[in-house]
Amino acid sequence: MPEPLVYAIPLRNRFRGVTVREGVLLHGPAGWGEFCPFADYDDRESAPWLAAAVEASHRGWPEPVRDRVEVNTTVPVVDPELAYEMVAKSGCRTAKVKVADPRTSIVEDCERVAAVRDALGPGGAIRVDANAAWDVGTAVTAIRELDRAAGGLEYVEQPCPDIDELAAVRRRTDVRIAADESIRRAEDPLRVAVAKAADVAVIKVAPLGGVRRALEVAEAAGIPCVVSSAVETSVGLAAGLALAGALPELDFACGLGTISLLTNDTSSDSLSPVDGYLPVLRTAPEPDLAAEARADDATTTAWLDRLHRVAG
Ligand SMILES: [Mg+2]
Repeated sequence: MPEPLVYAIPLRNRFRGVTVREGVLLHGPAGWGEFCPFADYDDRESAPWLAAAVEASHRGWPEPVRDRVEVNTTVPVVDPELAYEMVAKSGCRTAKVKVADPRTSIVEDCERVAAVRDALGPGGAIRVDANAAWDVGTAVTAIRELDRAAGGLEYVEQPCPDIDELAAVRRRTDVRIAADESIRRAEDPLRVAVAKAADVAVIKVAPLGGVRRALEVAEAAGIPCVVSSAVETSVGLAAGLALAGALPELDFACGLGTISLLTNDTSSDSLSPVDGYLPVLRTAPEPDLAAEARADDATTTAWLDRLHRVAG
C-alpha cells in the first residue's frame, strides 16, 4: 500500500495568515484522503479532519444524487477594475465578494460589488462575506448599502461573530444571512437554526468529520447548505464535491472552486471549474505529487508525527 504523501504548496495570496498549504495524503482500500488541518488547530480539533481523510481512503462516499456542482468564484479585497476582470474570466454565474476588510471602507466595498454586478450581468448572483467583522448596527447599514450597490444580494456570510448577533441582524434585514464561522463543530449548526440566526449554513467536510457526518449535520440544521472547501488540493476537494453531490437539495453555488488559490496541486487531474461547474467524482484523484509539491524532510517528519498523534 502506498506510503502517506506529505505536500507543501505555496498559496497565491496569504490566507488565514499562511502562505504555504501543507497536508498529508493517505491511501486505503477506497482510494485517497487528505488530512490538512490548519497549523493553529490542536490535536483534538484536528481529529475530525483525520476522520474525513479516513472515510475517503477506507470507506468511500455515499452515492451522489447529481453528477456536477455549480461553484462560485471568489473576489478578494481588490480594486473594482480587477474585480470585474476576475469575475468576467471565471466563467461562474455566482461571485462571492470579500468585504469589511479593516484596510478599506464601505464605499470601496460598494464599488467592488457594483463592478462585480457589471461583470456578471443581471442574471448572476452576488454574495458577500464579512468574516464576522461587523457589530449589529454596522452590519444592518452596510448590508443595506451593499444590497443596493449589487442590485440585490443573494446572501451575506457571517456579518457578525456571535449567533445572537446574526439573529439580530437577520431580524432587521431582508437579505439572507449565512453562517460560516458559527458552524465549526458538529453541534453548532443546530444552535444556528434554533436561534433563527441564519437562512443558509456553510458546511465543510473536514471540520465536520467526513461526508456522512456533514450530511447528518445538514439534515439536522434544516436550512439550505452551501458546501465550501478548506482550500485543500484536488484530493480533499473531491470530498467536498461528494458532499455537495449527495445533499438532497442544493439551492446555491458551492465554494469548491478554490484550486486556483494554490500554485500547484497534488494531482495532474486538477479540479478546476469549467463554465462554473465541477464534476462529482466517485473517488478522489490519484495523486502524482510532483517534486515541487513534495514537502522537505523536516516538514514531512512533522506532519507524520502530527498524523500519529491525532490518530492516537
Ligand atoms: Mg466565509
